[in-house]
Amino acid sequence: MNDTILKLTNVESYYGPIMAIRGISLEVARGQIVALLGANGAGKTTVLKTISGILDPQKGTIEFRGQPIQRMEANRIVAMGLSHVPEGREVFPFLSVRENLMMGAFLRRDRDGVAADLERVYGYFPRLRERLQQPAGQLSGGEQQMLAIGRALMNRPTLLLLDEPSLGLSPLLVKEIFAIIRRVNEEQGTSILLVEQNAKVALETAHYGYVMEVGRVVMNDSCARLLNSRDIQEFYLGAKEAGARGERRWKKKKTWR
Ligand code: ATP
Repeated sequence: MNDTILKLTNVESYYGPIMAIRGISLEVARGQIVALLGANGAGKTTVLKTISGILDPQKGTIEFRGQPIQRMEANRIVAMGLSHVPEGREVFPFLSVRENLMMGAFLRRDRDGVAADLERVYGYFPRLRERLQQPAGQLSGGEQQMLAIGRALMNRPTLLLLDEPSLGLSPLLVKEIFAIIRRVNEEQGTSILLVEQNAKVALETAHYGYVMEVGRVVMNDSCARLLNSRDIQEFYLGAKEAGARGERRWKKKKTWR
């Protein structure tokens, strides 16, 4: 892969004695959207936390923009241009929408650039402009997701990590949020690593995909090819036609061909 912005090699991370990721290797090319799929508990969130420095890997290397970051503090990684939108948004509920957005720019000193980026975020999410002075805790789930993405964009990231942006949102809002994710990628050239349970929307949005199972990558390919894979299609059908039953089938599946 040419012009790799992020490269993980044999990364292992633990929660106490529990090994949550077991030798993950993956790459994100500059300007690419990469999807990370897998059942609940496969280790997707742990991969993102390990990249952004919330967790220290026990083994392996993580290169971001050509520099090793596996021992770097999280705020230095943010300063290098990596923003992480965590699962469940984690907006500051008692701060206003504007204050939340400004928290995303806390390392920046270029006031004109910050003002321009605020305008850009309002352009992507006009609803945030309408609610600038409102405490973030009063926003709907969809608006909080917009705010969490907007806050991450205020760091003007080269790489954006998105953890389950569709979680708990209506299909209409999911469509809206993913259209913005595509626009950010196309207009700003931002590389994106996207963790999603909604495999269909993720594979239709991303360029390349990795599938994880029990802490390991079991499949990786272009999204066009993954969409045609029998295993992936089986999951879609299960998910589409049988709802929760499909989710159970995905969880029970032991191997990927
Ligand atoms: P989900 O979609 O449910 O978030 P995931 O693929 O993101 O799943 P992780 O959250 O990364 O999976 O979890 C990977 C494994 O690590 C799971 O077995 C989980 O139970 C375990 N785990 C996650 N967080 C912790 C924690 N704080 N302490 C101990 N174990 C954890």
